[in-house]
Amino acid sequence: MLSGKTALVTGSTSGIGLGIARALAAEGANIVFNGFGNADDISALLSSTAQEFGVQTVHHNADMSKPAEIEALFAYAAQQFGGIDVLVNNAGIQFVANVEDFPVEKWDAIIAINLTSAFHTTRLALPRMRQQNWGRIINLASAHGLVGSAGKSAYVAAKHGLVGFTKVTALETAQTGITANAICPGFVLTPLVQKQVDDRAARDGLANDDAKRALLADKQPSGDFVTPEQLGALAVFLCSDLAIQVRGAAWNVDGGWVAQ
Ligand code: NAD
Repeated sequence: MLSGKTALVTGSTSGIGLGIARALAAEGANIVFNGFGNADDISALLSSTAQEFGVQTVHHNADMSKPAEIEALFAYAAQQFGGIDVLVNNAGIQFVANVEDFPVEKWDAIIAINLTSAFHTTRLALPRMRQQNWGRIINLASAHGLVGSAGKSAYVAAKHGLVGFTKVTALETAQTGITANAICPGFVLTPLVQKQVDDRAARDGLANDDAKRALLADKQPSGDFVTPEQLGALAVFLCSDLAIQVRGAAWNVDGGWVAQ
């Protein structure tokens, strides 16, 4: 379905981004990986993905909090593949503290990585998408793009902002072959959430599995984690021709979290 197209997935060396990159590669898209990690692991990831799915893969280590590095990433993608057809804004970080204790530099980093980077990638991706009248923009927001949780002010503000930005992007492209949508996952067991499991285990003196259950019980009625594969399948649908009228959605995949 996506053969001959190029997908950039920010923050795709781990977790959800990796799951989405693999799902798009399985549909034939060439992948521009981005994100941090050990150089040998990243090069193994590039070759295993290329081999498994018969696509081309490259990596650029732009720090998504730095606009100049995001511009360099787009220049690299243009030079490698001609440009980006599918943009998945996924890179993100978390930090938990009450507002009055929230470190200012953590607030700034979360807003820069989880929100402002999507503005930069989108403004850089749109000219080519408009020229070819085809493009898909998928923003990884969160259940926290729709509802709040104590201790997560910067994250909730960034994700609500990302949902709003998605709506405006969708409206500005409404009569084109470009769509913009947000995916709003509940808890997915990635390194980002494992840290919250570890904190819960330490705080309440729980074993790892009990801390996972406690975290889910707070928020996610299904009692199960969402998986990167499930999110990859939704991203593939959003890239399909049949999804052309799905515009500006904030699609929760959250075990019932925001239905409460
Ligand atoms: P993760 O920690 O497993 O992966 C984050 C990725 O982002 C990694 O590849 C990391 O290298 C990259 N990254 C971090 N800072 C970066 C930066 N400054 N520049 C470039 N890359 C950077 O996290 P995840 O759980 O897979 O989260 C992915 C996205 O999904 C995030 O936006 C997160 O907010 C969102 N999300 C996660 C969950 C969850 O439960 N895990 C739920 C809802 C939304």
